[in-house]
Amino acid sequence: MADIVSTQTPKARKAHKCDWCGGKIEVGERYERTFITDYGDAWTWKCHPECQRLVQIFIDMDYIEREDLVSRDSFREACQEYCRAHICPGCESWDKERNRCRNDQGYCLEKIKEMLLEGENDE
Ligand SMILES: [Zn+2]
Repeated sequence: MADIVSTQTPKARKAHKCDWCGGKIEVGERYERTFITDYGDAWTWKCHPECQRLVQIFIDMDYIEREDLVSRDSFREACQEYCRAHICPGCESWDKERNRCRNDQGYCLEKIKEMLLEGENDE
């Protein structure tokens, strides 16, 4: 079973990549740093706090199955699914003819964050 040993939210002393969205965590930005062990393996998961919030919200909304460790693929699939259902049709990134999103990853993370995290202040 996977174990979350500790979670901290330090300020980035160097740039990191968010393990959820793949976006950049800038120097000086607060990020979530989680130390995980699983059957003798140990690693550190670094991510934007907002992305971590999204995972929680997606789990609550049943877009992501509640399980030990949520995979990055589940996160991306949930983003795509949510985006398709709530954002795509009226979005400027939506290609009506090809019936797909013009974004490489297939969803607009910023818009998802706007919709789901609005009103949730982190200061
Ligand atoms: Zn992120």
